[in-house]
Amino acid sequence: MLTSNIPLGSSVAIIGAGIVGISSACALNQKGYHVSIYDPSSPGISGASKANAGHIGASDIFPLSVPGIYFKALKMLMDSDAPLKVPFKDFWSQIPWFWKFLLTSHGSRFQKATDAISFLGKNSLKDTKTLLDSYDLGEMVDYGGCAFIYDSKKSFNSSKKSWDERSKRGFSSESLNEESIAKITPAVNNKFKHAFLSHEWGKVTEPLDIVESLSNAAQGRGVVFYKNKVNGISESLNSVLIDAENGSFKYDAVIIAAGIDSISFAKSLGDFLPMTAERGYNLTIPSPNIQIDIPIVFADRGIVATSLRSGLRIGGWAEYANPRRPANQAYFDSITRISQELFPSLSVEGANFWMGSRPSMPDSLPVISKSRKMNRVFYNCGHGHYGLTHAATSAKLVCDLLTDDQNLSVSSLFSINRFM
Ligand SMILES: Cc1cc2nc3c(=O)[nH]c(=O)nc-3n(C[C@H](O)[C@H](O)[C@H](O)COP(=O)(O)OP(=O)(O)OC[C@H]3O[C@@H](n4cnc5c(N)ncnc54)[C@H](O)[C@@H]3O)c2cc1C
Repeated sequence: MLTSNIPLGSSVAIIGAGIVGISSACALNQKGYHVSIYDPSSPGISGASKANAGHIGASDIFPLSVPGIYFKALKMLMDSDAPLKVPFKDFWSQIPWFWKFLLTSHGSRFQKATDAISFLGKNSLKDTKTLLDSYDLGEMVDYGGCAFIYDSKKSFNSSKKSWDERSKRGFSSESLNEESIAKITPAVNNKFKHAFLSHEWGKVTEPLDIVESLSNAAQGRGVVFYKNKVNGISESLNSVLIDAENGSFKYDAVIIAAGIDSISFAKSLGDFLPMTAERGYNLTIPSPNIQIDIPIVFADRGIVATSLRSGLRIGGWAEYANPRRPANQAYFDSITRISQELFPSLSVEGANFWMGSRPSMPDSLPVISKSRKMNRVFYNCGHGHYGLTHAATSAKLVCDLLTDDQNLSVSSLFSINRFM
């Protein structure tokens, strides 16, 4: 039974104060629930929401596992500058996840995942704007589009099909010639001659500022934040018991939005949540000596660049590895070297380095769902590459689950049952 009704006015605890947990807190608070959030760190500080690339990438509608991924992935694993990394010591434990990932690239599974991401993408700009505007934070996002730059004419041409598909689904774009690339992104190496401009794309002023500002605004309207770790959840008659560092507390419902750590909660409840850590690397340069006006995706490099309050952030990549392992310095070095190739006048002096774990599902879709095991426990996690982009829409969807207002054909797309 995937439906439930948690009446308005009930108490709801959210585990995790990343962008997904905080956005959920805002939506539930606005709906009329009494919301508490738990996190051992200040909002946004310890997870993937802290220093991501800041893109609201609405038009990125395809799962990572695209048709033909087998050969592409093998080729990438053999190239040290390619964006895909799987350390040997972490490979074996992830085989079941990779198997499900590869299955996504096939026929109807790929279509289904694309439909679901398109649904989130279609709503994400509007929902992000509505959420931020409701707290007078609308100025923290710029909706100026994004340049997708290709290394060669061949890869540009082979991407055309995907741009046509986006445009069929209502995500508009235009191809850029050499002259317009130089005009829109003058700091980019002039050897790049092929690009698309995607219109349905935004960027925030600074990812951490968004989490902090939403958190402050929500607390101003009654949301309570506990800077405490949650150690466990158990269900008793008509309530859920949270065992936190500061004691045990009863709630009418609990939402797990703990990013990559949602895995351990699911395990303890007996839910099957096939999530893995897809670690991304970036550098942020406070005085980069160049300026970029709109976000840029270097499509063949798995690298994105964004101008943020803290400086120019460049990075990306995907390392499927144990989230507890220290970051690999060699990857920072490679991304720094590649960045200087992409932007010849770039100065990397004073760069800050960061690695974060994307909470990634094999079909690139989040899990926004009631637990299979507990009636009053819900998940809002697994947002992979697009937690910032899809947070506001996911928050609305998790609200609909609690109030039992969900559209079943939409909620089934993100249900935890899809892995059974
Ligand atoms: C390099 C990189 C670039 C990215 N770029 C973009 C981008 O441009 N656009 C985009 O949309 N997305 C991007 N992403 C993805 C995005 O950052 C994530 O999808 C998103 O941050 C996930 O948010 P979250 O709230 O689910 O998890 P997190 O931000 O990881 O937050 C989880 C929170 O749960 C807390 N927690 C964990 N365990 C417990 C516990 N036991 N008790 C209480 N609290 C707990 C943690 O402390 C943490 O604060 C990027 C990610 C990376 C790594």
